[in-house]
Amino acid sequence: MWIVMVLVLMRAVEIGAKNYTNYQLFLAIPRTPDQLERLKFMVQNTPQVDIWIEPSYVNHKVEFIVSPSYVQKMKFQLSSFEFEYLILNKNIQDAIDEENKDTHQRGSHYTGLWSKSVTDKYATYEEIIDLLKYYQSHYNHVLLDLVGKSWENRDIMAIKFSVGSGKKKIFVECGTHSREWISIASCLKIIKWMATKFRRDSGVTNMLQLYEWIFVPVVNPDGYNYTQETDRMWRKNRKPVTKRCTGTDLNRNYDANWSGLGGCDYTASPVYRGPSPFSEPETLSLAGFIKKEKPYAFFSVHSYSEYVLTPFASTEEKPEDSEELTRLAMQAAAEMEKVNGHRFAAGRIIEFYGMIRGSSVDWAKMKANITYSFVFELRPNRGAMNGFILPKSNIKPSALELFAGLKTFAKGFL
Ligand SMILES: [Zn+2]
Repeated sequence: MWIVMVLVLMRAVEIGAKNYTNYQLFLAIPRTPDQLERLKFMVQNTPQVDIWIEPSYVNHKVEFIVSPSYVQKMKFQLSSFEFEYLILNKNIQDAIDEENKDTHQRGSHYTGLWSKSVTDKYATYEEIIDLLKYYQSHYNHVLLDLVGKSWENRDIMAIKFSVGSGKKKIFVECGTHSREWISIASCLKIIKWMATKFRRDSGVTNMLQLYEWIFVPVVNPDGYNYTQETDRMWRKNRKPVTKRCTGTDLNRNYDANWSGLGGCDYTASPVYRGPSPFSEPETLSLAGFIKKEKPYAFFSVHSYSEYVLTPFASTEEKPEDSEELTRLAMQAAAEMEKVNGHRFAAGRIIEFYGMIRGSSVDWAKMKANITYSFVFELRPNRGAMNGFILPKSNIKPSALELFAGLKTFAKGFL
C-alpha cells in the first residue's frame, strides 16, 4: 500500500502536475431566472472555480469544480440562495489518478499490440503522431497532411482515408478543447478502424466507399500536451495573451459572429475569445485547410453531455435547412443510444448552451458554406460521472457511439 502511494506521489512530482486533491465537483440546478443570474455571478470569473458546464438556462444542470479553500464558501452561498445542488466528487484528484494509470506505458512499434495499446489509453501527442505515421506507411488508403503549426510549433496533423478518387469529403475535428480527452481518444480509435479494417469490416468498408474521410485528431496539441504534463483541466491553447494570462478558447476564435456575448473578454477566462477572429495559429491554419479541402460535411467532436447538435450557436436565427439538420441529428442520436444504452439528446446548440460566438461549427456553416455541420458532445452525461475525467475503459464504448453517429449521418446525406 505504502509503496503504491509513494509511487503515485513520485509520479506527480516527476511530471510537476497541478494537484487537484480535495477539489470538489459540484452540480447545481438553477430553478428560477434569479437563481440563474446568481449562479452565473457566483461561478464566472471566480479564480477558485473552474466551470465544466456553463450556466445557460433555468432547469439546466451546471457543473464546476471548486478549490479546497473555497468549498465552504461555495456551499454556504448555494444554501443561502436555496439552490438544488449535489457534490458529485469530493476529491477530483482521485479520478485523475485513476484515469492516468498506465498512460505512459509503451508497447513495441513492431507489433499490433503497440497500435492497440496506444488507442486503448489516453496517448501522448507524440504517440499519436507516431501512430498516424505508422498507418500512413502500412496502408495504401491512408495519407497524412500537415494542417499547420501550433503556437509552440507542434504539427497539427490531418489523416485522410481515400479509396478511389472523386468522392465527397467528410471532415472531423477533435481535441479543440484539450481537457476533453475522450474526444481525442474516440477519434483515434475510429482512425485505427478506418486504417486497419478496410475490406475486413463491412461498416468501415462501406463508409470508405461512400466518402473520403479526413480527421484532425488533435486540433490543439499544445493544450493537450499541457493537460498531460502540467494541468489536467486546461481547455485553451497556450499562446500568451498578457504577461499574466495565457490561452484563447479556440472554439470562440472563429470568424462567425465573433465578439459580443458568449466569449468572455476577461483574458483569464476559460472561454476567452482572443484579441481578434483567427488571432490563433491553430484556428487560422485549420480554417485555411478546411477551405482548401472543401468538405461536404463537418463534425466538431467535444465532451461532455451526450448531445448531437446543429447550428447555429451564435444567433437565434435558424439556417434554412434547420429542420433537415435536426432530423439527421435525431437519427444519429437514436443510433448512438442503441450502442450502449446512453441517451443522446439532439437539437440546436443555442437551445442547449445559450449563445456562443466564434465557434467552428458556425463558421463551417456560415462562412465555409458546408451544408452539413454538427457538434458531438460525447459521454458522460451531466451528473453521471466525473465529467472530463473518464477511466480509459470508456474509450472503446465512446468510439463505438461516435462511429454509430458518423455512420448514420453519412448514410443520411445521400
Ligand atoms: Zn469542447
